[in-house]
Amino acid sequence: MSMTEEQIYSGSCACGNVIFNVNGELSGITYCHCTQCQKASGHYVASTSANIADFELLSDSSLRWYQSSKNAKRGFCSNCGSNLFWKLSVEDEIGIWPGSLDNSPKLKSIEHIFCSSIPSHYEIKDDLPKHEFFPGYENESDIYGIKK
Ligand SMILES: [Zn+2]
Ligand SMILES: [Zn+2]
Repeated sequence: MSMTEEQIYSGSCACGNVIFNVNGELSGITYCHCTQCQKASGHYVASTSANIADFELLSDSSLRWYQSSKNAKRGFCSNCGSNLFWKLSVEDEIGIWPGSLDNSPKLKSIEHIFCSSIPSHYEIKDDLPKHEFFPGYENESDIYGIKK
């Protein structure tokens, strides 16, 4: 081991065909209300993220990637249907949906994004920061392009 022992998180889909480790830090949780997350999840998405260099797939026979826009794709298990990952082609990070993580790691809730797309069937009742779009972006399509 190196001088500082690295945190290792493990995760999996519902059927166990997709198994992964994160050998490093996980970010706090962002709640995304964009229309694509609504469609993919059936509601809205909670996402933590990791540096792609720390992300390790141990089993991926049923992992499929859906190219949800020009610069982003969503990873899911084609056997059990679990939503798992979100990856922007222009970033070194991978978004991980925290329900896939084992051992209930303690992660802090950070913020809500794409609040401009919240449908009328729910509202946000907490006091976390709320962004109309992605922080630093001006409209929904910007997130799928290059970071400003
Ligand atoms: Zn599965
Ligand atoms: Zn989203």
